[in-house]
Amino acid sequence: GAEATMEPSQDKERPPCPALSALEEEFQFVLCEGCQKESPNLKLLTCLHTLCLDCLSENKPVGQCPVCQTAIPQASGIPNRDNLLFSSLQARLSVYKKIRSGGSLDCCRCHKETAAVWCSECEEFLCVSCFEAHQWFFKKSSHEARKVEELRAESAHHFLEGTRRSCSLFCSSPGHNNQGHITSIYCRRCEKPLCCSCALLDSQHSQFYCDIRSEIRQRQAELDTLSLDLREKRSSFEAAHEALQSKAARLEQVSSEMQQQIRQRVEQLVQLLRREEEELLTLVKTQREQGYRVLAGELQRLDNVLRRMQASERLVQKMRLYGSEQEVMDMQPFIKASLEELQRLQPPAAGGLAQPGGDFAECQARLQAL
Ligand SMILES: [Zn+2]
Ligand SMILES: [Zn+2]
Ligand SMILES: [Zn+2]
Ligand SMILES: [Zn+2]
Ligand SMILES: [Zn+2]
Ligand SMILES: [Zn+2]
Repeated sequence: GAEATMEPSQDKERPPCPALSALEEEFQFVLCEGCQKESPNLKLLTCLHTLCLDCLSENKPVGQCPVCQTAIPQASGIPNRDNLLFSSLQARLSVYKKIRSGGSLDCCRCHKETAAVWCSECEEFLCVSCFEAHQWFFKKSSHEARKVEELRAESAHHFLEGTRRSCSLFCSSPGHNNQGHITSIYCRRCEKPLCCSCALLDSQHSQFYCDIRSEIRQRQAELDTLSLDLREKRSSFEAAHEALQSKAARLEQVSSEMQQQIRQRVEQLVQLLRREEEELLTLVKTQREQGYRVLAGELQRLDNVLRRMQASERLVQKMRLYGSEQEVMDMQPFIKASLEELQRLQPPAAGGLAQPGGDFAECQARLQAL
């Protein structure tokens, strides 16, 4: 969400000059990594992320970096250390933008005249007469003041390089650092810069003294070496990251293949079952029709016998009621033969005729087997 939060508010203020917007983009790193805004209170976390005090006081969960989740050791969740470098860069960049904007700049001392020079040590614009007073006052210390016109033509990089305070390491003893006690001695035992008078008091450490500049160079070199070593470590982390990502991709691929397999197989099975359903239903229908045909034939036969029995019973009865002696004598043997024939007939036994279609045993078996 970092990019999203910075765009809307800053778009209107952004200068139309393309060089300046490129500059803002390049030096976006001096802004708070939470809100992407300038802040006079930039804190440096142990993870080396930089956040403003506002973001840190609203940070949730408290006690961890919102960018990389590294723990913040302070109970308040506010680190002790300021990011002096970025704060100073912000200030110097805003000076540079003021210079580049082209308008006339007021002297910071008298507030009347137009500024002619910039002193990076005092961080002030000075008019010609205030500059003369400044030169007299700071004769001994090396305040490098530069002409505004010259600076206006300079690139931001040159300006920032030129304005880094080169000679402003002060003695660290209490009361000395704000009195302009500039130092060139570093005691490696006390691990602090000393002015000449403090060095006299610390003379038992004189074998640990070195030039402050060589100490600075050594510290810088130390950071460079560590940073270079870290690059190797970083590539192993990047490799691990890549490996994990490819595992994630593989997981994604395998799972989607599995899903497809399941769908295909189930689709196959459904079609198989549908075909089996079709066949079984057809089989039942065929057997039912066959069964009906058998039963219909048998029923017809029984019907015919019953009709014959009815007719003979009626004839015998009517002959007794109305028949003459001559008729009985003539017809009796014929009727008798027919009745005897009927007597010989047997109805089918109750269990004699197999149940047509059986119990659809084949269907049952195939249904069970599905
Ligand atoms: Zn912030
Ligand atoms: Zn962090
Ligand atoms: Zn002035
Ligand atoms: Zn100055
Ligand atoms: Zn010492
Ligand atoms: Zn001192």
